[in-house]
Amino acid sequence: MLQDQVPDLLRRATALLEDEFSSLPAFSPAVDTEGIERVLGTVAKRLADNYPYFHPLYAGQMLKSPHPVARATYALAMTINPNNHARDGGRASSVMEIEAVREIAGIFGWNEYLGHLTSSGTLANLEALWVSGQLADAGKSGKRIVGSEQAHYTHRRISGVLKLDYTEIAADNRGRMSMEALETELRKGGVGTVVATLGSTAIGAVDPLDQILALKERYGFRVHVDGAYGGYFRLIPEALDEPARRAYACMSQADSIVIDPHKHGLQPYGCGCVLFHDHCMGQFYKHESPYTYFTSKELHLGEISLECSRAGAAAVALWATQRLLPLAPGGEFAGGLASGRRAAVELDRRLRRNESGYFQALAGGGPELDIVVWKLAAKTAEEASEMAQKVFVACAARDLHLALVQLPQLWFEPEGCAETGVGDSLVTCLRSVLMKPEHEAWLDRIWERLIDATAEVMGEQG
Ligand SMILES: *Cc1c(COP(=O)(O)O)cnc(C)c1O
Repeated sequence: MLQDQVPDLLRRATALLEDEFSSLPAFSPAVDTEGIERVLGTVAKRLADNYPYFHPLYAGQMLKSPHPVARATYALAMTINPNNHARDGGRASSVMEIEAVREIAGIFGWNEYLGHLTSSGTLANLEALWVSGQLADAGKSGKRIVGSEQAHYTHRRISGVLKLDYTEIAADNRGRMSMEALETELRKGGVGTVVATLGSTAIGAVDPLDQILALKERYGFRVHVDGAYGGYFRLIPEALDEPARRAYACMSQADSIVIDPHKHGLQPYGCGCVLFHDHCMGQFYKHESPYTYFTSKELHLGEISLECSRAGAAAVALWATQRLLPLAPGGEFAGGLASGRRAAVELDRRLRRNESGYFQALAGGGPELDIVVWKLAAKTAEEASEMAQKVFVACAARDLHLALVQLPQLWFEPEGCAETGVGDSLVTCLRSVLMKPEHEAWLDRIWERLIDATAEVMGEQG
């Protein structure tokens, strides 16, 4: 499961790279092979203390192994260990970053833009909101940031760091930003940026970007799209339901976009990406560096990013992955996204059919991307929450790894039954992120284990 041909391929590629430096006088760094082997053995044992993220029966959080070509090229690049801060630290990998980011911008139809990789989605979002704050300071926009209550939790923290006011906008029973609530907030004035989440972390909800853009016409604000998780779904509009498809269709009208290659882009951690539609935003990054930017007159990526050192290897791995699996609609990469999406739709269908009577699905409708959530049928939210915990454990005992999430109880109440007194109480639900293409073929095995585990818990419950 964990062993493949990657080490052999890597050994051959490393020899090719070494040939390229053969004019240098020979030099063999001292390596304590025995010591390394001993430590490797210990590390292998220590790493067993993990959920098996690489396996299709791991269907919990947003976690999976990077693509073998990403692993191999990341390791190959580490023999050089380039730093994409400046061309001085990484010439080839800087060019590869620029090329890879151009391909990502292409997903959104952007030919002119400013963009680069970051060490995470959080850092990428921070840069986007930092630019919003800079524009506000220059008197060019309001200073307030608003995002849905289902937006990633870091937006509030980032706004705190940047000393920008942050307001949460209510979400509807599908986890999408409520346009009524947004407009109420816009009328108060001072909103500089609306964060639209396309693929929320909890349930993969897609904010109605088309309607947000219509409000932009009237109120004037920047639109930042947080597609850290869901950005790549722009490649498979035909697999999405109408509201999500409409939102993705107008992504090119955003002012800035964040997408995480280390979430759905098959990359090791340490790879986020921020894009600005207006390349003039580069003005805010202007700074001098007394140590770097000497060896080339070309743009150094450190001149357009907040971070200094960044892994050149991350850019190399992303570039290589996109060579093997181009970001094209209808291609193999898009096909992988579509498989996970089909697995989610099918799991949701079985949960809704609910032959066992154990489950309750979201009242408003099924998954918008590849994340499925459901609660256990019970008399009270407390009971349902307790049972979700037990099913989570019983599934794990069957090697099926799911996740838990707290959601408003109201989302499970049929329309018009909102006065049942649940207020805004939360209920713990089961959550499954079906982000591996293999999940589709494994769905029957996932389902069997889920039913078996739930039957055991419900049986104990009497
Ligand atoms: C994961 C995620 C983030 C944060 O990205 P990191 O790479 O974990 O820092 C932000 N927004 C959304 C919607 C996410 O899913």
